[in-house]
Amino acid sequence: MNNRKYKKREEKQMTDVLIIGSGPAGMTAAIYAKRANLNVLIVEKEYEGTGQMAESSRIDNYPGFYGINGYELGEKIREHAEALGIKFLEAEVTGIQKTEESFDITLESGEVQSSKTVIYTAGAAHRKLAVPGSEKFENRGISYCASCDGAFYHGKDVAVIGGGNSALDDALLLSEICNKVYLIHRRAEFRGDASTLAKLEQKENVEIIRNAKVQEITGNGKVKILLLDTGTALNIQGVFVAIGMIPQTEAVKKLVALDESGYIKAGEDGVTLVPGFFVAGDVRTKELRQIITAAADGANAANSAIQYIIRK
Ligand SMILES: Cc1cc2nc3c(=O)[nH]c(=O)nc-3n(C[C@H](O)[C@H](O)[C@H](O)COP(=O)(O)OP(=O)(O)OC[C@H]3O[C@@H](n4cnc5c(N)ncnc54)[C@H](O)[C@@H]3O)c2cc1C
Repeated sequence: MNNRKYKKREEKQMTDVLIIGSGPAGMTAAIYAKRANLNVLIVEKEYEGTGQMAESSRIDNYPGFYGINGYELGEKIREHAEALGIKFLEAEVTGIQKTEESFDITLESGEVQSSKTVIYTAGAAHRKLAVPGSEKFENRGISYCASCDGAFYHGKDVAVIGGGNSALDDALLLSEICNKVYLIHRRAEFRGDASTLAKLEQKENVEIIRNAKVQEITGNGKVKILLLDTGTALNIQGVFVAIGMIPQTEAVKKLVALDESGYIKAGEDGVTLVPGFFVAGDVRTKELRQIITAAADGANAANSAIQYIIRK
């Protein structure tokens, strides 16, 4: 057989299910679709990425894995998917077009992949602080991931900005590493878990500053001063920003309907208004954005894709 010709034919093969993103939603969708004997491909933009969970130092709410490190959990799910023979392609998806019978998925390289169905699980990304100094000091004292960068601030003074679970978790983690942690929230009430807040209130090296907004970040090559709109200037070496997430919908915003916050409109079955295009995980409209709900979404979306393929 002519091997070259055979390879070419293989490259042109259309997948049954192309999944965008290899977080818990994407990998679970792949596991379910693969076990239904479908031809599955995951496209993930980060090298061996496993999504947001890789940023968490400790996960206490995923059943069966009490206290597991997020990176480790991600690796375990990835190994599970790989053991089933699921293929991963490292590439960023920049656009998706519906054709008569299938979808054309454009990658950053310009290459186009075709698939009968698409499950979009691109998740969410960190919202940035819109204040002077925010861009200038990124990676020079400003971080969006305490579990990734916290160790660099051992014995130093840092600030955490935000009022949700991420901010509270970050402050708790940093309180074990840093000399002093300022937790700054623009409101009086925190949105995050009351139990985590209570733990922080007990910590001697944590100072909670309510009703204050960051006005400017200054320094000399690296972060030095955090100026608040209350007039307070904090001497710090690190700022951890945890002010929410932005759904990653750039590649699909012309294809599907988004809600007012930018999330893709779909129910638990992942079905969207575009036949054959399904959505799962944090990028979907829903109440609770967690690993377990992302995984559940992935299973449901895969089931919808399987039904779609069977009935077509
Ligand atoms: C610091 C932190 C701590 C957390 N702690 C917990 C916890 O303790 N328990 C819990 O249940 N949840 C926790 N979460 C939330 C949980 O991680 C998310 O809800 C979950 O990861 C969402 O999964 P997902 O698959 O929908 O999306 P994500 O995990 O966001 O994965 C999306 C993937 O898609 C990829 N991608 C995006 N756009 C493209 C594109 N255009 N082309 C190709 N690939 C793309 C991304 O690189 C990423 O790998 C935490 C989150 C953070 C940030």
